[in-house]
Amino acid sequence: MKIKVENVSKKYNMAGRDFWALKNVSLDIDKGEIVTILGPSGSGKSTLLNAIGGIDKVDEGKIIIGDLEISSLKDDKLTKYRRDKVGFVFQFYNLIPNLTVWENVEVATNISENPLDIGKVLESVGMYDNKDKFPSELSGGEQQRVSIARAVAKNPDILLCDEPTGALDYVTSKELLKLIEKINSEYDATIIIVTHNIAISKMSDKIIKLRSGEITSICKNIDKISAEEVEW
Ligand code: ADP
Repeated sequence: MKIKVENVSKKYNMAGRDFWALKNVSLDIDKGEIVTILGPSGSGKSTLLNAIGGIDKVDEGKIIIGDLEISSLKDDKLTKYRRDKVGFVFQFYNLIPNLTVWENVEVATNISENPLDIGKVLESVGMYDNKDKFPSELSGGEQQRVSIARAVAKNPDILLCDEPTGALDYVTSKELLKLIEKINSEYDATIIIVTHNIAISKMSDKIIKLRSGEITSICKNIDKISAEEVEW
């Protein structure tokens, strides 16, 4: 699904003063693209991701997903957009501890409009054999695979990943990146990855850099490499 962000600004009120976390941000993302958002801590990366995902509202500007302007939606419509169209992957997995792998994914498919087959998705992330285990019985990398399965099983148009490899070692991170690449080609989802790791941007189609809430550059990555080749 095509994503258009037009002159978006977002402020937080801190101790009675406005603080602008996003300032006049504009960008375009094409359907099926992998995009990385880079920038130092506090530059607004998560704020931008959450605005695109309908978690946070913006104060100025427009966000248009396909032909839906989400920036003007009321809460119930925004919730529906988030449920039906967006999958989230977070740094610390956010799985529900007392549910099995299968049930964690089921929670997401139960509330979505057009879910995929849970078994097939668990197969495709390599976690089918662990379907009856609980999160505490899995490694960090395995938990992140489940969280990707949970996000993907909703059959979302957009997969948003906030520091998806932030808590993982090098080898496990590379496996995760290969999985994200596979999800992109298998399910044709548009993928946005927020990361500190510049190396990850080399596997993306577009690289967006943020500093202090402002875009400093947007580049098409003409030398895109595969996740397998990414090294740091
Ligand atoms: P990044 O993801 O690049 O680390 P964030 O988008 O999390 O940056 O934050 C951008 C800025 O907005 C930071 O200065 C942060 O302190 C501030 N901020 C984020 N969320 C809130 C909030 N809920 N209330 C107040 N300030 C916030």
